[in-house]
Amino acid sequence: MRILVTGGAGFIGSHLCDRLIQDGHAVLCVDNLFTGSERNVAQLSSRQNFSFIHHDIVDPLYVEGVIDQIYNLACPASPVQYQQNPVHTIKASTLGVINMLGLARKHGARILQTSTSEVYGEPQVHPQVEEYYGNVNPVGPRACYDEGKRCAETLFFDYHRMHGMEIKVVRLFNVYGPRMGFHDGRVVSNFILQALQEKPLTVDGNGTQTRSFCYIDDLIDGLVKMMNSPSELMGPINLGNPVETTINEFGNRIIELTGSPSALSYSGIFRVNDPMQRCPNITKAKELLGWKPTVQLEEGLKRTITNFRERLAV
Ligand code: UDP
Repeated sequence: MRILVTGGAGFIGSHLCDRLIQDGHAVLCVDNLFTGSERNVAQLSSRQNFSFIHHDIVDPLYVEGVIDQIYNLACPASPVQYQQNPVHTIKASTLGVINMLGLARKHGARILQTSTSEVYGEPQVHPQVEEYYGNVNPVGPRACYDEGKRCAETLFFDYHRMHGMEIKVVRLFNVYGPRMGFHDGRVVSNFILQALQEKPLTVDGNGTQTRSFCYIDDLIDGLVKMMNSPSELMGPINLGNPVETTINEFGNRIIELTGSPSALSYSGIFRVNDPMQRCPNITKAKELLGWKPTVQLEEGLKRTITNFRERLAV
């Protein structure tokens, strides 16, 4: 197949491009390089069936020839990054999504949207099930991402209802792994870098907030399974690892696995509207896709730490 991946030079996107090329497909990787980097796809640049298009999906995109599938990943996803230019973040998930839905319609392509656990906001239902409508502050600093992604889901379902398009919507919970940006502001990259550089690990608030971390290979497997599932299955479907951990436990785990002399250092201040508890219910993914994560946190972190060490050495 000929498959277009938006956000293809980002952390998740580049792993997806690797997998699709490995599976024998032709890949068009589209990225505006705001948070992505051509370095992430450098290993694919000499492949005949891979091409890179430097483009922002907020502007219309015209592609010649066949497109069979579109994975729409383009959008900054780390809170620090998506809040840098909040209006552009909203544009990516609204104008950008309309452009990609239009492109899919024109080519008769199936299209998958990577939505997010952030659509649940500060959840009052735990663990989060897909039926939960969420609790998002529409005027808070996270809203540009949360409300944008919520609107993107609406657009997907409206395009399906209006035009009968083949759509897929998945909600990604926290993902980690090799190639994460050193300075993307995420807890995983911050803590690993701080531990390796023997600096204090900067814990926001008191570290009792929770997250559930899914290893990148598991996530990619879920994305591909969802894209190739029967057309009746549109989602939304949660993709994430249901093993919940506090930020304190997570920091201590990083210190232990890196063998770092670093310690946790507390800011005492939580980020505004920071969800205090986040964990996916993945019953649907298990039953409908036959998918569940297989890489334990310790193993995934070891691989990620090794990758960070290698990149730091360079
Ligand atoms: N966090 C932290 N220290 C950091 C970065 C993040 O304590 O250096 C916390 C952050 O406040 C949040 C959690 O870790 O409670 C996860 O943050 P991240 O930015 O990784 O992603 P989010 O899940 O909020 O999108």
